[in-house]
Amino acid sequence: MNFVPKHPRTAISGALFDAAAKVIPGGVNSTARATWSGWTPYPLFVAKGSGSQLEDVDGNVYTDYLLGLGPMILGHRPPEVTRAVVDFIETRGTVFALPTADEATLADKIVAAVPSVEQVRLCNTGTEAVLYATRLARAFTGRRKIVRFEGMYHGFSDGVYWSKHPSIPAAGPDSSPRPVAQGPGLPAGVEQNLIILPWNDPEVLRAVLKTQGHEIAAVLTEPVMCNTGCILPEPGYLEAMREATREAGALLIFDEVITGFRLALGGAQERLRVTPDLSVFAKGLGGGFPVAALGGRREIMALVSDGRVSMAGTYTANGIAVAAANATLDILARPRFYGDLDAVSDQLRHGLQAVFDAAALPARVVGIGPLMQVWFTTHAIRNYRDAERFADQGLFDLWWRGMLARGVLFHPGAYENLFVSSAHTTADIEATLDAARDVAAELS
Ligand code: PLP
Repeated sequence: MNFVPKHPRTAISGALFDAAAKVIPGGVNSTARATWSGWTPYPLFVAKGSGSQLEDVDGNVYTDYLLGLGPMILGHRPPEVTRAVVDFIETRGTVFALPTADEATLADKIVAAVPSVEQVRLCNTGTEAVLYATRLARAFTGRRKIVRFEGMYHGFSDGVYWSKHPSIPAAGPDSSPRPVAQGPGLPAGVEQNLIILPWNDPEVLRAVLKTQGHEIAAVLTEPVMCNTGCILPEPGYLEAMREATREAGALLIFDEVITGFRLALGGAQERLRVTPDLSVFAKGLGGGFPVAALGGRREIMALVSDGRVSMAGTYTANGIAVAAANATLDILARPRFYGDLDAVSDQLRHGLQAVFDAAALPARVVGIGPLMQVWFTTHAIRNYRDAERFADQGLFDLWWRGMLARGVLFHPGAYENLFVSSAHTTADIEATLDAARDVAAELS
């Protein structure tokens, strides 16, 4: 059953990886593309994507729930976005270091879509947007510490590249984890500006904001914990966060890099009805092109308006990014977009749960809308330490390999997500559920 790499079906991927590894460190341009047991000794190399399907260089075709880690909310090569970008390049250019009218058109759409955003600046990546959000929070409050949560990821800048998935012995006590660097090379001392907490624990958060609130510039959180396998906030948790930050005079920053424009046009904050002070968006915004945004309350963004906090970048709001985002948002704003996307996603989530239940496998399919993950456990998972203690990653690995062998692609990491796009059809989901039935029968 195993679709173990070095399999004849992926021989060309293997050869390309060997060639790439001679000139590209690790053979890939993002460390996370190769450091999984599923992608050992090499990842699949892509020939092309089309709608919900991805084809590798050996000609194997997969129904794709990896979706580029989320940006491909419209599926691969959405014609309207592709056309808008090509038109822009052919008729107008790419980079000007001067504004275009299209930027305000896009900002208007974002402000109209997202409840808490009164003004918005564009960036290229989620990493940049988070970096600016924390800088803005420090400038606005005059405080230096950022609270962030174990198991989350907010990009790779020095100030936040800590405690994504630390070893528990290194990270220490459950209720007051120590910051653990993602790896060597982070400047010593920056972690003194971080307070790491367990997620979904309102009491711990309240206590920290009460005792150390005068030093805390912001609480930075994903509204859904997508970087540890799609853990939902418990009822009242985000509301408690909102109330406690307000009382402490700290800002609440939602990192909606994954949830933004995916869970609703107004992101998780619209769907879960909690309003942050600042928000960060990326993946879903650009339909596959690199664009990100930082938006929030006008009085905070005023620090950017008058140049006290500088937001720069040669490629910021380049023509390709803006054209792609304008075209993407026009599609996302159509009345039935999210209803239809949710319907097909629910078919997958409920269908997978039914498959596991029928096979008597200890699995829980968790998530919301077009964002989900399978936990192989009977425990409820509330935060990163629950996941470390209770989720069976070995079983997840077998499930992943079995599905890949049957033409279903999603991330090999148990702490990642399955993404659904508007290009996925009911027939795609039925085929995926057929594959899941086969794999579940083998695993049970
Ligand atoms: N924030 C979250 C929640 C993310 O999941 C990611 C990337 O996956 C980032 C920030 C960083 O975004 P980017 O990869 O665009 O720099």
